Amino acid sequence: MRFEGIGASPGTALGRAVVFVHRLPAPENSAGVFLGVEEELARFRGAVKTVHARLLDLAKEGGEKFGADKAGIFEGYAEILTDDEIEERAGAFISGGLTAAGAGQKIMEELAGEWENMEGPYMAQRASDLRDLGRKLSLAASGGEDPELPSLSEPSILVADELSPFETAALDHRLLKALALDSGGYTGHVAILARSLGIPCAVGLGGASSQVKSGELCALDGDRGFFILNPGQNEIEIFNSREEEKASFAPLPETVCTRDGVSISVCANIGSVAEATLAKERGADGVGLLRTEFLYMNRLPGEDEQYAAYARILETLDGRPLTIRTMDIGGDKEFPALGLAREENPFLGFRAIRIGLKERGVLKTQIRAILRASALGKAEIMFPMIISPGELKEAKAMLEECGKELEKGGLAWGRPPAGIMVETPAAALMAGELAAEAEFFSLGTNDLTQYTLAVDRGNPKVASLYDPLNPAVLRLMAMSADAAAKAGIPAGICGELAGDETALPLLLGLGLVKLSLSGPKIPLIKKAIQNLDTDSCRALARETLARADAGEVRALLQRFP
Ligand code: PEP
Ligand code: MG
Repeated sequence: MRFEGIGASPGTALGRAVVFVHRLPAPENSAGVFLGVEEELARFRGAVKTVHARLLDLAKEGGEKFGADKAGIFEGYAEILTDDEIEERAGAFISGGLTAAGAGQKIMEELAGEWENMEGPYMAQRASDLRDLGRKLSLAASGGEDPELPSLSEPSILVADELSPFETAALDHRLLKALALDSGGYTGHVAILARSLGIPCAVGLGGASSQVKSGELCALDGDRGFFILNPGQNEIEIFNSREEEKASFAPLPETVCTRDGVSISVCANIGSVAEATLAKERGADGVGLLRTEFLYMNRLPGEDEQYAAYARILETLDGRPLTIRTMDIGGDKEFPALGLAREENPFLGFRAIRIGLKERGVLKTQIRAILRASALGKAEIMFPMIISPGELKEAKAMLEECGKELEKGGLAWGRPPAGIMVETPAAALMAGELAAEAEFFSLGTNDLTQYTLAVDRGNPKVASLYDPLNPAVLRLMAMSADAAAKAGIPAGICGELAGDETALPLLLGLGLVKLSLSGPKIPLIKKAIQNLDTDSCRALARETLARADAGEVRALLQRFP
């Protein structure tokens, strides 16, 4: 039985299931006897205090496990609990006859409903976190323990209806082979934590948890986002060989070349300070994409705070290059600190560089921090969502302005190479003009695919149409790579396609010299590059570009060499 969902953290796993489904009585029935308004209110306040303290502990623990920046996830939920509105809502429910335990659940259920109705998937994907918070309040108020989370006794695939960041943090990660979740999305907290731990994860699998029993054999593909219950012999062999492959790829610390001596830089995509260490351990030649949104999770970060984060990553990378992408907030990433209005089409709206060029102070603070970090190591600055040379010129003018200000202020700074993400069809179509202004290109195939094919990258209903190997996307990639070559600037890729080993010969054939991908795939991709020859890759690329659909392209790639 196969369940289709969204790949949320790369890698594959084959193993026995441990099923975890949340069950709690309806709020009206939870924790029995009503002890009177005052008593229940006191109980409610006690529960809030207990859960609040637990969250702060988790923030500390989580900081150690996932990196300090992820501690903010738990701090954020702790903050919600201390909001006056929570106490007000509790008062209303309790006056209406609900117990403290029932009120805790009900309030969070209400809030979750409100978040689910917000525009864009970002808040909706966090609604289940609130439900879990409600369960925790309810249990704390009724003196109950959190009995549900299974303890793993052997390496297992956890199959759950949903999982909160609190539960994810509490699991024994050494025994967690993969995560299969009915709900959730790519940008949900569980997905973020799974990626930073290198645990394969698929989300949005629908009713998987209600069909699987603990102990049953299952297979999960976190790259393509599917889950198989009771896989057949053929599938077992494929998944087994992938596991063997994974084990046989020791990290290669040096930069690798193709058989004919073309050097290809294989870098990591990271989204936190802590992941830089993991990237280095996996043999990354540097960081090709630092997603800086983590800095903006709860508030606008100051210049010094950002500088400190970039400096720490550069120090960890020990002389390796670091490409810092300026903030890509907006789109599906909600950002309360800027008070942005909700939009009908957030992916086509006020996002990334568009915010930066309007809210100039916000972007300038980031640019100044990046310029200061450039004095410490090999940093590069990369602008997202560019659609025209004019935007790039404007961003570069801001960069010059920031340099002058730093100079005047007597602060040490460096001038980093400035490049762009090519992730809109407009950028690919204008690649010639953009290459005259940019010092490098990085193909953002995640967005380039969604914008070229008009397919929302996070919507499971159209997931089968979302395919970066669609020749329409490939032709735009080729146009961009050709324009870069003509202008003499390097072109790379930092979309998820960079970690797809079947696509690798095509990517090299297009002339890309830098691949930036999620950490766990780095050893495998480095090894595979050494077996390729750029002449035959180029011939393959020419052939794929002449094909009419993604299926034909995939067939060609699978037959290669
Ligand atoms: C992309 O769009 O391909 C990309 C790498 O950026 P993000 O996934 O952060 O939008
Ligand atoms: Mg993008």
